Amino acid sequence: MRLVLLGLPGVGKGTQASLIARESNTPHYSTGDIFREILKSSSLLSRKVAKYVNEGELVPDDIVFEMVKKFIAGDEVNANGWVLDGFPRNKRQAEMLDDLLEEESHRLNFAIHLTVSRNILVNRLYGRRVCSNCGAIYNLSMNPTQKEGICDKCGGMLERRKDDSKETILKRISIFESEFLPLRKYYQDQGILIEVNGESRVQDVFNQIKERLEIGQERRN
Ligand SMILES: [Zn+2]
Repeated sequence: MRLVLLGLPGVGKGTQASLIARESNTPHYSTGDIFREILKSSSLLSRKVAKYVNEGELVPDDIVFEMVKKFIAGDEVNANGWVLDGFPRNKRQAEMLDDLLEEESHRLNFAIHLTVSRNILVNRLYGRRVCSNCGAIYNLSMNPTQKEGICDKCGGMLERRKDDSKETILKRISIFESEFLPLRKYYQDQGILIEVNGESRVQDVFNQIKERLEIGQERRN
């Protein structure tokens, strides 16, 4: 199965994507990981990406797609599909993805949208803490560390990201929404949109997704 996870930042896409990937025995690709991988390499692509990242600018759609393509392209690892989170972020990226899949005679099976109310989202994003040493991500309410302020994995100090102030969070959400609504409609029109409330406990959300995927597949067959 080829699945994409959609939703506002902080909604828990990464967590659900990795659970689905494990269950369906397919690889999980997140744009966060893809960015990190590419930036570690010394390719032309990595230099292009670094330029945008260093200047704090949004990486253009075609470059993001070029990066994602390197990971999801049809090879043995991806023979049974994949789960992708963080891409597509807008309708244009979704169309690029569809074109690629069509070239490979595949198609996207489902787009899973995790919904969450604005208030909860702001609180989640505001509670996000990152390990200054290893980059592990925690959340004061959703996913706290054993010892306050200390990374469970490496003992490093946790910090709030510079771009996690309430103001920038709200700004990020509204920019994201303006691109997101046409994307949601794009998948809705294709009849492959699955919407699940992302506010429940991780396992409950996952169970709902599984159920909806099964129903969706039965309807297809
Ligand atoms: Zn750490």
